[in-house]
Formats: sequence, structure tokens, C-alpha cells
Amino acid sequence: MAKKEGTSQFEGPVRMCVVCRQRLPKRELMRYVRTEDGALDYDAEQTSQGRGWYVCRQEACQKKFLKFRLSPRHMGGKQ
Ligand SMILES: [Zn+2]
Repeated sequence: MAKKEGTSQFEGPVRMCVVCRQRLPKRELMRYVRTEDGALDYDAEQTSQGRGWYVCRQEACQKKFLKFRLSPRHMGGKQ
């Protein structure tokens, strides 16, 4: 199965799941953003400003991301 360079198999914007690194259409992913007080918020509209993470809907990825988000090392941050 040959795949041409530059040809997306999806229409519209594509984002990568931070856990499994699979590339999927943005609307197939769940976006999380960090709020000003350092909490992580599910961004249903996918329009919030600031650092965001996209996670696919696979249960394994959701679970791993839950651990990921609880680790301050990955949050870039101030404690
Ligand atoms: Zn994933």
C-alpha cells in the first residue's frame, strides 16, 4: 500500500495523540489545556489558548494520559 508524501488520509487539521503518537483528525481527539491556576481542563471546543495536549479516545491512551497529567515533571512547571 503506497502512500504519497503530502497526501493526508484525513480531511481537515490533523493532530498527534501525545501518548501513542498516532495522527488523527483533530475532531477525533480530545484536547486538554492547562488553566491559569495549573489545573488541567478538558477543552471541548478545542479553542482555548495556551498549552494543549491531544489524546485519542483509546482507553489505554486515556489512562496513560491520566498518569502523565499527574506528573508535574511533564507540566513544565512551577510548583
Ligand atoms: Zn493515543
